[in-house]
Amino acid sequence: MSTSSQYDVIIIGGGPAGLTAGLYTSRAKLKTILIEGSAVGGRMAEAWEIENYPGFTESINGYDLTQKMYEQATKFGVEHAQSSVTAIINDGANKTVTTTSGDYVAPAIIIAGGSERRKLGVPGEKELAGRGVSFCATCDGPFFRDKVVAVVGGGNGALNEATHISHFASKVYIIHRRDTLRATPVLQEKTKSDPKIEFIWNTDVEAIEGEDTVEHLKLKNIRTGEESTLPVGGVFIAVGLVPNTDYLKGLVEMDSSGAVVTNDKMETNVPGIYAAGDVRANSVRQVVTAAGDGATAAIYAQKYIAEK
Ligand code: NAP
Repeated sequence: MSTSSQYDVIIIGGGPAGLTAGLYTSRAKLKTILIEGSAVGGRMAEAWEIENYPGFTESINGYDLTQKMYEQATKFGVEHAQSSVTAIINDGANKTVTTTSGDYVAPAIIIAGGSERRKLGVPGEKELAGRGVSFCATCDGPFFRDKVVAVVGGGNGALNEATHISHFASKVYIIHRRDTLRATPVLQEKTKSDPKIEFIWNTDVEAIEGEDTVEHLKLKNIRTGEESTLPVGGVFIAVGLVPNTDYLKGLVEMDSSGAVVTNDKMETNVPGIYAAGDVRANSVRQVVTAAGDGATAAIYAQKYIAEK
């Protein structure tokens, strides 16, 4: 491609926020490119079962929902570039997005780059990644058939991972640092009634150990200080998400967690730059709200371009 291609709208990120924004801008006949560094769908594509996206009464698999959203957006003409964004230069009327496959220029940008999984930061997590340490039960579940595994965390992510992995594993421990869960009641009920799942409360994972693959976890009870060893064949880390915003430092206003601050029109503090989905401060991180953010950002981007 040429080193600088002109568009009306550049969308960064191909999860539900970016795909919905693309559907709206391309349907409004705006020349739109969606830039995504890896596969489209983001976290949504990894979800085994989505029970709370309206219209799918029997639930839908995240990969299938991704395919539907992608087909719908591209049907109206969204172009798709598979590359990583390295910087954005704001020249006022136009913004230049620099990527690993060249530069893209547009008056309006919608940032929808989502989030990545938070790491525990304990010894063994990095060293044994892919060898028993996993961040995605949907992707890796079948590798843990008939094994004893652990899931770390107490939010929707952890409990979803646990219910999915319990289809394969012989036993699932959920290790949580407190004695109350952050997860929604319906998921709490599901995990607590699953005979394969057992909770280990008030406990930190201090290390993940094993020769070639994960063999055991070093645990510490936060209340009593008691240390113990738990033999497991795998561990799923689900301790939250951090927004993908490193390349935005100094460009748009962010909160202390690195999430992009927007108003209710999804406008950032820079005219013509919008943010949508998990990347946005105070996002409730649901597929349906990400899609809503994407639609809102697209509608106001369209108005911004028309007024220019
Ligand atoms: P989350 O709701 O932020 O929960 C993170 C969990 O990890 C909390 O229980 C937290 O403990 C624990 N934690 C955080 N840092 C830790 C550390 N260093 N060591 C040990 N434990 C730690 O994150 P999430 O479950 O990934 O969900 C993120 C957002 O996506 C939420 O808004 C959620 O509703 C939404 N969502 C996720 C899914 C999914 O499947 N991933 C599905 C639907 C919605 P404390 O509780 O003590 O803080």
